[in-house]
Amino acid sequence: MSSVFKPEPVMLHKTGPQVLQEINACIGCNECLRACPALAEPITIDRLNRETLAGGISPAVARFARTCYQCGACVSPCPVGLHRDAMMMWLKVRLLRKTLEE
Ligand code: SF4
Ligand code: SF4
Repeated sequence: MSSVFKPEPVMLHKTGPQVLQEINACIGCNECLRACPALAEPITIDRLNRETLAGGISPAVARFARTCYQCGACVSPCPVGLHRDAMMMWLKVRLLRKTLEE
């Protein structure tokens, strides 16, 4: 009898505590956003970090989260080795949860 292949689920986003750790380590230099090809309107890193973590998500940050296509261009310019792409994925998940709650 052949066994059924059951792939392990892949976590595409980091967990909340990991994202918190990364945001706490962020020095706010803005290099990630400068490198991003999807950012179409001005958003401060402060605001992005705050809204990625918790609380309300403003329309501009929500638009950015939806536009992010996970290209990873924001990762290599970070001088402290953080993963903005993963933080954005976490923000996408928060946004989706909020939409489902409404
Ligand atoms: S992963 Fe998202 S935030 Fe990062 S550079 Fe690409 S589009 Fe921009
Ligand atoms: S490049 Fe890194 S340290 Fe600079 S704002 Fe982006 S995540 Fe923070």
